[in-house]
Amino acid sequence: MSTAAWLRAVTRAAQTPLPPPAAVNDGDRPAAMAGLDPITAPADADIVAAALAHARDTSADRESRLLWGRYAYHNARTLFGDLHPAAVAASRIYQRILAEQQFTFDAVRVAQQRLHAFERARDQVQTLTSRCSYATALHRDGDCEQAEQQTALALRTWWASPHGLGHSAMVLLSAAAIRAGCGRTRTAVTTLVDHAAHLAHLDGSCRRMAARWLATIATTHPQQCQYTSAAASPDRDVLQQQVFWLSVLQTPQLHQRRSLDHQTGQIS
Ligand SMILES: [Zn+2]
Repeated sequence: MSTAAWLRAVTRAAQTPLPPPAAVNDGDRPAAMAGLDPITAPADADIVAAALAHARDTSADRESRLLWGRYAYHNARTLFGDLHPAAVAASRIYQRILAEQQFTFDAVRVAQQRLHAFERARDQVQTLTSRCSYATALHRDGDCEQAEQQTALALRTWWASPHGLGHSAMVLLSAAAIRAGCGRTRTAVTTLVDHAAHLAHLDGSCRRMAARWLATIATTHPQQCQYTSAAASPDRDVLQQQVFWLSVLQTPQLHQRRSLDHQTGQIS
C-alpha cells in the first residue's frame, strides 16, 4: 500500500461522525452474492472476491459492508490461509470498516490477528506495518498504554532496519498521531522533527492528509484517552491543529529550534 493510499484510509477511518446509511439495494451487489445471506453463505472463492469488492465500496450501506466484510475476512482465511493476499486484504478492509463504525475493540482483535500471522511467518516488513496498524487500533479503543508500547517497539524496529523497511512515513506519522492524541504534543513534534529527513519525500498532498489525520486524532482522541489528566482539552479547533501539524511537516527546522529553546510544543 502506498503512503498516499494508507493516509487516505486512516484519515477516513478517523473521521466522525459517520455518514448516514444508504438504503439496501440488493440489485447493486455483485452477481456472486445475489440472494445470499452473509451469515449463512458458504465458503467460496468467487463469493469472497465479490464480498471483498462490496466491502471496499464506500457508497454501499454500512450494515451490508460490515456483514460482507466479516464474511470475506473469515472465509478468505479459511479457504486460503492467513497470509494469502486476499486474506490480508480482507483483514485490512474489515478492520477499517470496524473502525469507521466505532467497533473499536473488534478492530483491535483483527489487527492483532494480522500482526501475529506476520510475526509467525517472520515477515519483517509486514510485521512492522501491521504493528503500526495495531497500535493505532489500540489507541482508538482507548488502550493508550498498550498503544505506546507497540509504538515504541515499531520505532525501535524501524530505527534498527535498513531504510526503515520502506515504511518510514507510516511508522513516524503513526507514532506522532498516537502521542499527539494523548496530549503529548511536544513528544509528537519531536518524533517528526528529529526524523524529518525520512519524511522529506512526502509530497504536498500527503503532507496535507497527514496534517488532517494528526489534527483529527489530537481533537477527538482526548475524549476516550486513558491519560485524561495529561490529555489536552478536546474542544481545540481542528483547523488550527491542521495548520500547526502542516507547519511541523513543512518547516521542521522551525519547530526544532523551539524544542531546543525548551518551549512546550503546545499550540499557543
Ligand atoms: Zn490517549
